[in-house]
Amino acid sequence: STALVTAEMVDDVARKHFPPCMLNLYERLKRDHHLKHFGRLQLGLFLKGIGLPLDEALVFWRRMYGAAMSDDKFNKEYRYNIRHSYGQEGRRANYPPRSCQQILTSHQPGTQDAHGCPFRHFGPDNLQTLLASYRIERGSAEMKDIMDSVKASAYHVACTRLFEVTRGIKRGEGVGGGESVTHPNTFTKRSQEIES
Ligand code: SF4
Repeated sequence: STALVTAEMVDDVARKHFPPCMLNLYERLKRDHHLKHFGRLQLGLFLKGIGLPLDEALVFWRRMYGAAMSDDKFNKEYRYNIRHSYGQEGRRANYPPRSCQQILTSHQPGTQDAHGCPFRHFGPDNLQTLLASYRIERGSAEMKDIMDSVKASAYHVACTRLFEVTRGIKRGEGVGGGESVTHPNTFTKRSQEIES
């Protein structure tokens, strides 16, 4: 079972344990107080997967939109969608968080979008800037390693290498037992397990 995460705790978990796709969405949301539809969906379902319950999700999104959005607009346009993604509206389907495969291949992001996988959808310069927030320096052997995988279109290999490098795990161990990153929630869960 997954431990409870409150709205208050998201920032700390993000800085320590989010994979690049989710850290990017979270930083964009913090900066712009706004995310487009597929970005909200990708981050929202991921947050559900890390253990943020519906009532805390409502608090989190309301806070992130901030004063830029009226309570009225939030209640009319956003509350329903958040409840919907938790299976509390409409067909009451419990939508699972997106896997890397789904993120890599569906809903190709346009230039204004923040969703997707940075290893696949960012240009090399933006990607290296994002990776610098994981303390992977431009020009380092680790950066070269990761960028080589990106060039070979081996995005999950690049993400797995990032996981290993940033957590001091030896090459080939991956998220455990030689497994590579195939789900953003696995990235976070394993990272939390290693820390504790
Ligand atoms: Fe996110 Fe998966 Fe891309 Fe890593 S490989 S950044 S977990 S979508």
